[in-house]
Amino acid sequence: MRIKVSDFCKIVSASFLGEATELVFTHVSIDSRSLQNNEQTLFFALDGKHHDGHQFISDLVQKGVVNFVVSKVPASPIVNVSYFIVSNTLVAFQEYAAYYRSQFAFPVIGITGSRGKTVVKEWLNFLINPDYNVIKSPKSYNSQVGVPLSVLGIDHKHNFGIFEAGISTVNEMRVLEKIIQPTIGILTSIGTDHDEGFVDQDEKLNEKFKLFVHADTIILEEDLAPLLADENRKKVFSWSFTSNTADVLFSKTNRGQLLVKTSRSEFEVGVPFDDSVSLSNMACCITTLLYLKYDQTVIAERMSKLYRVEMRLQVKNGVHQCTLIDDSYSADFQSLKIALDFLEKHKTQPTKTVILSDIFQSGLPEEELYQQVHVLLESNKINRVIGIGPAISKYLAGLKNFYGYVSTDAFLQKFSMDDFQQETILVKGARGFHFEKICSLLEEKTHETVLEINLNAVRHNLNFYRSKLKPTTKVMVMVKAFGYGNGSFEIAKLLAHDKIDYLGVAFADEGIALRKAGIQLPIIVMNPEISAFSAMIAYDLEPEIYSLKELRTFLAFAQEKNAYQYPIHLKLDTGMHRLGFISKDIEELISILKPTNVLEVKTIFSHLSSSDVEEYRDFTLQQIADFKIQSKRISEGLQISPIRHILNTSGIYNFPEHQMEMVRLGIGLYGVGNDAVETAQLEHVSTLKTVILQIRTVDDGESVGYGRKFRSKGLTRIATIPIGYADGIPRAWGNEKGYVYIKECKAVIIGSICMDMMMVDVSGMDCEEGDEVIIFGKEIPVTELATKLGTIPYEIMTSISQRVKRIFYQE
Ligand SMILES: *Cc1c(COP(=O)(O)O)cnc(C)c1O
Repeated sequence: MRIKVSDFCKIVSASFLGEATELVFTHVSIDSRSLQNNEQTLFFALDGKHHDGHQFISDLVQKGVVNFVVSKVPASPIVNVSYFIVSNTLVAFQEYAAYYRSQFAFPVIGITGSRGKTVVKEWLNFLINPDYNVIKSPKSYNSQVGVPLSVLGIDHKHNFGIFEAGISTVNEMRVLEKIIQPTIGILTSIGTDHDEGFVDQDEKLNEKFKLFVHADTIILEEDLAPLLADENRKKVFSWSFTSNTADVLFSKTNRGQLLVKTSRSEFEVGVPFDDSVSLSNMACCITTLLYLKYDQTVIAERMSKLYRVEMRLQVKNGVHQCTLIDDSYSADFQSLKIALDFLEKHKTQPTKTVILSDIFQSGLPEEELYQQVHVLLESNKINRVIGIGPAISKYLAGLKNFYGYVSTDAFLQKFSMDDFQQETILVKGARGFHFEKICSLLEEKTHETVLEINLNAVRHNLNFYRSKLKPTTKVMVMVKAFGYGNGSFEIAKLLAHDKIDYLGVAFADEGIALRKAGIQLPIIVMNPEISAFSAMIAYDLEPEIYSLKELRTFLAFAQEKNAYQYPIHLKLDTGMHRLGFISKDIEELISILKPTNVLEVKTIFSHLSSSDVEEYRDFTLQQIADFKIQSKRISEGLQISPIRHILNTSGIYNFPEHQMEMVRLGIGLYGVGNDAVETAQLEHVSTLKTVILQIRTVDDGESVGYGRKFRSKGLTRIATIPIGYADGIPRAWGNEKGYVYIKECKAVIIGSICMDMMMVDVSGMDCEEGDEVIIFGKEIPVTELATKLGTIPYEIMTSISQRVKRIFYQE
């Protein structure tokens, strides 16, 4: 892009500070941490609640960036740097994207709805790709920031666009409409997502409809059409499974095909999936193809090849202490950029390897495309690139540390697992290359029971609690007990990236493991044992000090190591009566600490026993008042002003007025709130799942499992699943008390739960061996399990055994 400074200022309503008369850049960035920033970058300094792009301007200048859109006038402008000063950088970013989009006049589909946006987008892309040069939103980039980023990926070769738009509250769609400028609008479905952002369903629907105000056509389910405003109803091209007033009517034939009826034609389409959600999404796609005047034989031929859409980047443990980032379902330039940023942020081993297939990017000539890929890989400092496919192996041959193979099989023949040692490996390939074969070889072998952890949800929950706090209040996150069972290292990595202030662990060895994995945040050890003092000092771990005896011992250790102002954290007992100094200790505490500068009191804190119990509100307030008095005595006695903290998750929720200088967030981060109202505002983090190992049918009166606890009444179909009490499932959940979910249906657990297996009743259910089974997750919340078993979610979550593989993913 080459544009006059004065013209650019008009587009984003900026005033200009700098010398240049022209603005020249090849890409736009909002991520200060991306290794892709360079001389050719136009950087928008977004001012998020927790991350302010303005703070990184001088770092970026070091990397060569010279063009910045800012909302704060720099105190001392840097020479040769151009500043475009606007009142709101996000708005300017969106305005620029809208301007950029308006430079192109080709058909653009805008998709919104509660479910299915990404699937419909990916499928439509697949279906029309042979005939158009399509630009689409990468992954699920559909937010106020994601949509502009998607649109900025358009180049002069594209001739068709497909973008998704997602909203969480009112007035957001108007902005997205201006950026996408869809000529064809698609509404997938309406559910209960983001309800909290709207007064009611009507308001939410009306907001979604704003995407269609300038569209020529609106494709939606017939039932929803009457809800549109009059002038928009004329533009509808509808589909339905029930209502024959629809433009396209679908029905299932008894041979498992879809029968498609329009006023002009009637034909059958073989479809690869038959669950109701997929059927709606396929109906939506077929209707769009009919609108685009596709021939019925082409429709039938391409529909039969649809595939499951996997949009997630998964992080898994690999062989030889490698970490595997599995993105083996797509390879276009936009998503490669995202994956490389993800690799940099989540690498657990410093050495970075990328296994990449040919890139399918309609538009650019191959040579130019691979030139860009070359530059991208180089700027991301990838230690080794393995290119698979005829094009990539040819065009990237000149890249340093490049190994080319013409096909996946050619690579697999040469490949040995020993070639991969202690590195972070990004595996990214187009579907046709079947990189899942590579992933399954590189993955650490464990059984099929996994705990999946949604990193987007963790981030959402962190921000939810942050929104209850003043911007200056610090946050400590408790990652003790292996991050409440969710994996401490990966969570800590995310938290470090999101700039929290402290991590809390229970024991020194948990802290040491985090240090060894490269975590540099300050770490507090809550239960420091004397035997671990030396190691703690060696690894920069900061102890909780809770008694005079412990204080004296730690001081002696620190003195011996010649420590100077070693950070410690004083714990006061204000009513929990577990650990901590009490009032009468304080004089002596001061007299020990006053004369020495070996130790420094960084923070003073206490722990609430009942911040989640309404009945004990007065007791909690008493604890807080007592804490304020005692901590003041210490601060005054030592003439220091340490950070004070007392609130845990439910404390933050119920007593935000007592946040002081820091809070300690625990269970809330993992998606479990104090009550149903709080939990509803959190996103679901972990899902424990496995697969059906075997299905059998037993006769009337037969028994199942140890001790013959279950007796069948009539023919009973039974599925055996490979998860038992050794994986952390309480035995009390067996014998028809508990249940699991298979294909969105409840299946009751029958008989006693065994060590490694259990049996469930699947009579009358449509399921087969290999199908997925959910033990807990969105459908069966941990809170429900805990309540029914008379325990608390903390116990269930931390009991999931380490032999259950953890998989982290990000959408
Ligand atoms: C575990 C713990 C927390 C976090 O409690 P949640 O209820 O999970 O938020 C806070 N402070 C201390 C001292 C803890 O041990």
